[in-house]
Amino acid sequence: MPSAFTHAAVPLMLGAAAGRRRVSGRLLAAGAVAAMLPDADVLAFALHIPYASDFGHRGATHSMVFALLLAALAALWHRQLDGPPLQCAAFVGLAALSHPLLDACTDGGLGVALWWPFSDARWFAPFHPIAVSPIGARFFSERGLHVMLSELCWVWLPTALLAVCLWAWRWTSRRM
Ligand SMILES: [Zn+2]
Repeated sequence: MPSAFTHAAVPLMLGAAAGRRRVSGRLLAAGAVAAMLPDADVLAFALHIPYASDFGHRGATHSMVFALLLAALAALWHRQLDGPPLQCAAFVGLAALSHPLLDACTDGGLGVALWWPFSDARWFAPFHPIAVSPIGARFFSERGLHVMLSELCWVWLPTALLAVCLWAWRWTSRRM
């Protein structure tokens, strides 16, 4: 997995660039939580649930169905999230989906159960350049530094570029 704060950075940067009118502060926070939530399944290790099981790490919580579930909850709670139902569902759902998609681009562990419960196959993206962050990683080790640099290069930088493009598009369309 990329580290928790890298998962959260994706919706935070893109949501902030989209502007407060489209993504409220609360919706932004919900997106960050949705992007980190799938890794709550590391609890499975403490419960002795095997990694490869449906409810093991990178299992059910890393599926499209789980992202859809969070999207439905966001639509249900749209008033609390200060936005229209569809917008809340889309932002939270995409934030949640970004998690397994990024995990699938890492170079270690098992793939993600993206199609659960229809298939328990673990999936990796064809291109997986992100260094996997070991569970319980110590960031102040050599391995931690390698993971941080890899996430910086493959997640933070492209997301920041996308966010700048989004912000520039908003800025120019306001002036036209
Ligand atoms: Zn994960």
